[in-house]
Amino acid sequence: ATPTAVMVATGKGASLGVLIKGGNALEKAHKVTAIVFDKTGTLTVGKPEVVSVMLFSSMSMEDFCDMAIAAEANSEHPIAKAFLEHARMLHQKIESNNQPNNQHLKEARDFEVHPGTGVSGKVGDKMVLVGNKRLMQTYNVIVDPEIEDYISENEQLARTCVLVAIDGKVAGAFAVTDPVKPEAEQVILYLRSMGISSIMVTGDNWATATAIAKEVGIEKVIAETDPVGKADRIKELQMNGLTVAMVGDGINDSPALVAADVGMAIGAGTDVAIEAADIVLIKSNLQDVVTAIDLSRKTISRVW
Ligand code: ADP
Ligand code: MG
Repeated sequence: ATPTAVMVATGKGASLGVLIKGGNALEKAHKVTAIVFDKTGTLTVGKPEVVSVMLFSSMSMEDFCDMAIAAEANSEHPIAKAFLEHARMLHQKIESNNQPNNQHLKEARDFEVHPGTGVSGKVGDKMVLVGNKRLMQTYNVIVDPEIEDYISENEQLARTCVLVAIDGKVAGAFAVTDPVKPEAEQVILYLRSMGISSIMVTGDNWATATAIAKEVGIEKVIAETDPVGKADRIKELQMNGLTVAMVGDGINDSPALVAADVGMAIGAGTDVAIEAADIVLIKSNLQDVVTAIDLSRKTISRVW
C-alpha cells in the first residue's frame, strides 16, 4: 500500500476507535486466516463476580476472608478485584454485627504473582496461596475429593474456581462468574463467514474454558497455558501456514501479541498488552476486530 493509503486508513481507524500503530499491521491484517482470542477480559466482559465462597476448614469466614484479602490486595488480576469487592461487602455485614475493627487492612509480605496460576504471600506468620489447582500443585498442596467436587460443579457452570491455601492446606475456595461479551458470538460467526477460524487460548482451566467457548461458538480451545505457552501456540499455527492475529488484554497475553502476525489489544486492557500490540481496539468491542481487518482490506485494494 502507498504511504497515503496507510495514512488515510490510520486516520479512518482512529475515528472509528481502532488505533493502528504502523503500516506493517495494516499490510498484514487482510491476510489473516486464524484469530486467537484470550478468554478473560477479551471474550468475556472481564469483570468477574464472586458467586460462592466455601470454607474447607474450621476457621471463621471472617478470618478466611482476611487472609485472602491480604494475599490479593496487591494483585491487578480481575479475579483479585472481584474477591476484594465481595469480601468487603461480607465484612460490612459481619462488622455491623460485631465491633468494627481495623484488622482487615493487612497486606501480605513477600507478595508474588504467579502468571496464569495465582498469587502468594505471607500474612502474619502464615503462608497464603490464592489461585488455581496448578498453583496448589506447584506448592505440593493436596486437593481433597470434597474440594474437587466443589471445583467441578462450578466449572461445569462456566465459573472459575479459586482455591485459598493457608500453611499448605486448602482452607476454602470461591467461584467467580464472568459473562461473555454480548457481541462475541456474532463476531465469531461473522469471522467464519470471512473464512477466518477462531481459537481460544487461556490460562484458565479446561472445563471453564470449554463451557465459555461453547457459549461464543468457538470450536478450538487451548486451556491451562502460561504466557509463553500462549506465544508457542501462535508460532505452531504459523508453522502450519496460517497468518495469525492475536486478540488479548492481559500482561499474560503480551508475548503472544508480539508473536502474532497482527497483535490486537483490548483498549480496557493492561498497558503492557497495549504496548505489545500493533492495533488497539479502543472501545474494547470485539466487532472492531472485523473493523480492523476491513480497514486493511480496503487499504490493500486501494478503495481510497
Ligand atoms: P486468561 O488467560 O483467561 O486471561 P489468566 O492467565 O490471567 O487467565 O489466569 C489464569 C488463571 O489463573 C485464572 O483463571 C485463575 O484461576 C488463576 N489466577 C491468576 N491470577 C489470580 C489471582 N490474582 N487470584 C486468583 N486466581 C488467579
Ligand atoms: Mg485476559
